[in-house]
Amino acid sequence: MGLDSENDWPAPELLEILVCPADKSSLIERRDVSGLECPKCGRLYPVRGGIPIMLLDEAVSAAGEGAGGDSA
Ligand SMILES: [Zn+2]
Repeated sequence: MGLDSENDWPAPELLEILVCPADKSSLIERRDVSGLECPKCGRLYPVRGGIPIMLLDEAVSAAGEGAGGDSA
């Protein structure tokens, strides 16, 4: 009914066990952009309807540089 945006975010216990599928790093909550950011590779995994989309194909660059194929 109201502004229950909290309901559209994964539970803390779920976030704790989630890791980046690319490098197994812990993720940072980025509610401002509705995503989970990996501090290691800079990928941002979108959260849709409270479900984190942990797919490399769905991840975007947290830096906003677009999906490039650059190797660091
Ligand atoms: Zn990563």
